[in-house]
Amino acid sequence: MKILIAADMEGISGVADRSFVLEDGLNYELGRFLMESDVNAAIDGAIASGATEILVVDGHDGGHNLRITNLNSRAVLLTGSARPFPMITGYEEADAAIFIGYHAQFGTSLALLDHTYTSRLKLWINNVEAGESYMNALLCGSKNVPVILYSGDQALAEEVRSFSPDSFQVVVKEAYGRSAAGSLNPQKSGFLIKENVKKALKAWQDGHIKPVTTTDPVEIKVQFIVSEMAEQAAVLPGAEQIDPLTVVSIQPNIELGVRAFLAMIALAKAPLF
Ligand SMILES: [Zn+2]
Repeated sequence: MKILIAADMEGISGVADRSFVLEDGLNYELGRFLMESDVNAAIDGAIASGATEILVVDGHDGGHNLRITNLNSRAVLLTGSARPFPMITGYEEADAAIFIGYHAQFGTSLALLDHTYTSRLKLWINNVEAGESYMNALLCGSKNVPVILYSGDQALAEEVRSFSPDSFQVVVKEAYGRSAAGSLNPQKSGFLIKENVKKALKAWQDGHIKPVTTTDPVEIKVQFIVSEMAEQAAVLPGAEQIDPLTVVSIQPNIELGVRAFLAMIALAKAPLF
């Protein structure tokens, strides 16, 4: 049984604002420790349930937050920003996936550091408003890989329930604003993650958790916060700017749809004013 553990940082227990997730932040080293703690708990749960191969992907920023020396030696750690899908590299070969430290989509209220790759846009996939959890779950689903558990704040859990009610959501903190959270102690959240990973793996093996899918072709709609960004994103071949802020790209499948989305982000530079 091969398990992918995809880790982000904003939804890690104890992470309460930018100072934990930016390299030069006051609490960054603590943030790394907390991220390792939540990820190790997921590894422990997977091993206890019989996982034979565990790939951990460091999906936050440049992908160099987790320190291999601090992770359970049974896991392989993928660091660095492999392309084209750096948050879930290796998903095609997993039997099931676990998303640790995830966060709500941009524009969610009372959600810690809510964003969708950036905090400059909203995304819809086939007219469903999407964040990173839904987008990455769809990529996994396209290869028949279910995401069985997500950890993060209460807003992430609510978002996940809307598209994957049969998955497990572990709430490790409650957001009191975009930069304030009341969090469980990492020992407590680690216990919850480990126990729920075991339950989720059993539920999946019993046939209760299905992959998340959408229909082909896939319409990617991106609404930027500044018209200049939409104009730049519309340079993407085949993309159409349908109003001052919004660009649409229709692609044959979700993989190409996400590539189109990532290309739009690369093209669109947020102006200073
Ligand atoms: Zn992140």
